[in-house]
Amino acid sequence: MKVARYLADENSTARLGFELAMVLHPGLVFYLVGDLGAGKTTLVRSVLRGLGFQGKVKSPTYALVESYVVSSLNLYHFDLYRFADPEEWESSGFREYFNPHTVSFVEWPEKAVGFLPPADVIIHLGIRDFGREAELEAVSEAGRQCLNRLQN
Ligand code: ADP
Ligand code: MG
Repeated sequence: MKVARYLADENSTARLGFELAMVLHPGLVFYLVGDLGAGKTTLVRSVLRGLGFQGKVKSPTYALVESYVVSSLNLYHFDLYRFADPEEWESSGFREYFNPHTVSFVEWPEKAVGFLPPADVIIHLGIRDFGREAELEAVSEAGRQCLNRLQN
């Protein structure tokens, strides 16, 4: 199941983030796929704003992960662009970040194939002449239920 959205400007990206914030629940894993500048971090920032987080939302480019507690949710925002050392996966405790009590958004999941748990929803973001094209693809039953609620 797929949901396609054309995001004409940054406000549209923000709206999609707000919508996602309303259908999130613990246990979901979102992969964010798209080139640099496609809007992956912008979308996660908007999800956090939608959940009521008012602090700074940094891109986890160097830290690889930023953790948030908001609206009784534990949310992890990964950016695995610089992930290179497989041993770091275990030593950083990344495996434990993924469990039924947490929600994760993962930028550059392709960098940690074999380590990451499977996604529930894969969000593809493409850069267009004006704006962005988003395609949200459910790849599990939980992901399908989540996207169903998004459409209604
Ligand atoms: P990524 O994390 O994918 O590398 P960022 O979110 O850091 O990308 O940056 C995306 C850039 O594109 C930001 O400058 C943001 O303002 C802009 N942007 C986000 N959504 C849109 C959109 N729908 N249309 C045009 N520009 C957008
Ligand atoms: Mg980013």
